[in-house]
Amino acid sequence: TADVTSIRNNAPVLAGVKNIIAISSGKGGVGKSTVTVNLAMALKKSGAKVGIIDADISGPSIPIMFGAENMQPLITQKDGKNMITPIMQYGIKMISIGFLTPADSAVVWRGPMASQALRQFFGDVDWGDLDYILIDLPPGTSDIHLTLVQTVPLTGAVVVTTPQKVALADVTKGISMFRQQQINVPILGIVENMAYFTPAELPDNKYYLFGKDGGKEMAERLNVPLLGQIPIVQSIREGGDDGRPVMMDDEPIVSEAFKNAAEALA
Ligand code: ADP
Repeated sequence: TADVTSIRNNAPVLAGVKNIIAISSGKGGVGKSTVTVNLAMALKKSGAKVGIIDADISGPSIPIMFGAENMQPLITQKDGKNMITPIMQYGIKMISIGFLTPADSAVVWRGPMASQALRQFFGDVDWGDLDYILIDLPPGTSDIHLTLVQTVPLTGAVVVTTPQKVALADVTKGISMFRQQQINVPILGIVENMAYFTPAELPDNKYYLFGKDGGKEMAERLNVPLLGQIPIVQSIREGGDDGRPVMMDDEPIVSEAFKNAAEALA
């Protein structure tokens, strides 16, 4: 295998980006993309310049969650090479395979092609100067993850999980991958998503639908920070489906949770 450390240290990619953070999860459906989108908005609200790379090549959610599914990035020639101008939506720069293939086409990205596409997102996109790039990874561990750590100098990784047992089981695997000697990416923390539900008419009650404190306890066990416990809120789901991240509105319970997580990250 390649010497990851030297590639990471000499990586000429993303020279103008201060922090490159991978957002990962053991399983799909735990809210990794939702957390990516709203963390990005929270960081932007704090005054940072933010970009998102949607590396979930086989199930890109970023275009829909930003209401940008019909947008197409500008591709220009520079020194005989194609340069991609990222989409700018709500003040955030972003790129996704979803912008480059027709929405309902049946393109299947095989491993090497997907890795190649990801490399282009780093090398051929005109990112300019940014404080943060958040990378929305596919769930689990795959070729994409290895490509990522070999291509870019990651600041660290955030792991998203729900408190339930089946989700937590794969978190350890994901964290072990980042902690492997040759990869050695710092774990910045765990976000426990869908931590509890509070009905509007019972504001003092918390219902732990997926179990209580599973992510918190996992963070303690693995000796990594707990970045936040995000409740289940209907507007979080609606924001995703409507293409308008809920962090754009000032809904106290939601914005507090993502703001705290973003602060813990900064
Ligand atoms: P993943 O990226 O892990 O596959 P998504 O971010 O796509 O997961 O989330 C899965 C579904 O759950 C989406 O419909 C999303 O809107 C919803 N969702 C995620 N987090 C929350 C939350 N805290 N409250 C309500 N719905 C949520």
